[in-house]
Amino acid sequence: MSIHDLPRIKLGHLPTPLEPLDRLSESLGGPRIWVKRDDATGLATGGNKTRKLEFLIADAIERGADTIVTVGAMQSNHARQTAAAAAKMGLRCELLLENRRAIPDPAYETGGNVVLDRLLGAEIIEQEKGTDLAVALERRGHDLACDGRNPYLVPLGGSDAVGALGYVDCAFELLEQAEASGLEIDHVVHATASAGTQAGLVAGIAVAGVTLPVTGVSAGMSASMLSELVFDIAVESGEMIGSTDAVDPAMVVIDDSQVGPGYGLPTDAMREAVGTTARLEALILDPVYTGKAMAGLFEMTRTGRFDSCDNIVFVHTGGVAGLLAYGSVFT
Ligand SMILES: *Cc1c(COP(=O)(O)O)cnc(C)c1O
Repeated sequence: MSIHDLPRIKLGHLPTPLEPLDRLSESLGGPRIWVKRDDATGLATGGNKTRKLEFLIADAIERGADTIVTVGAMQSNHARQTAAAAAKMGLRCELLLENRRAIPDPAYETGGNVVLDRLLGAEIIEQEKGTDLAVALERRGHDLACDGRNPYLVPLGGSDAVGALGYVDCAFELLEQAEASGLEIDHVVHATASAGTQAGLVAGIAVAGVTLPVTGVSAGMSASMLSELVFDIAVESGEMIGSTDAVDPAMVVIDDSQVGPGYGLPTDAMREAVGTTARLEALILDPVYTGKAMAGLFEMTRTGRFDSCDNIVFVHTGGVAGLLAYGSVFT
């Protein structure tokens, strides 16, 4: 079974561009840094969940679902892209959003992604801080089924084997772009949180049979917990496209040095990375994921992890809508 045989709908502007960040590379004095613009996937301000939703929503439609339900933090970019995908396909959408009050700013509860969720017609069901979102999702699915509806439950971050197929496809896309332009990629760096993006990239690279190290910079979870999740999803996604033993646990590399006080909480290194990337490249990162991932890339560069002739691809997973709810973090 090839990835092209699996159900998929078109939601994103793909392929996304692969662009050099030469002013940033020069200022860091290390390898040449490139950006894979998955912040520009196009769906209601874009981001990495769009690729996953192309497979997830296709699966939902195939199963005759009438309601999409998912979970996340209040400023979940994933929830907003799910609301957008559901709107576009004419499906109802419910978002169970945990109000973590991550920052003392009213915009956290009403701005950024929440503005878009509402505009897109999704129903927000607020969850108390500390709610077990996986349990809440199952419960809501049960209640909807009892009311005669046919819900499709999308897990946190769209990170299951179906969703990760979006990043298997992204790995293929990236390898094709590199080949077409004669670019030899030495390393891929990206933000990782619910595991699906990294699982898909690792599975795609493994199935393609190439050697290309990937480092996921964690936005919250410890490396040991997250690497197990990534590996399990990668194996399952690989199996869905007929490859049973391509993924090796050694391919799953996670750097959890940038988490700071916790998921969604700002760090000085994140502020520096977001500010520098904006000023030198007019490339907007976000405080929760890509800012910490870029801070990780800065640190790796400064500590001599890469050769000065290397080509490093930073996968920009989006988050600009979330950034707009975190404005007070940057003043
Ligand atoms: C969800 C998200 C990530 C993390 O992707 P996972 O597949 O959950 O690991 C990274 N960046 C942004 C902007 C996100 O919204």
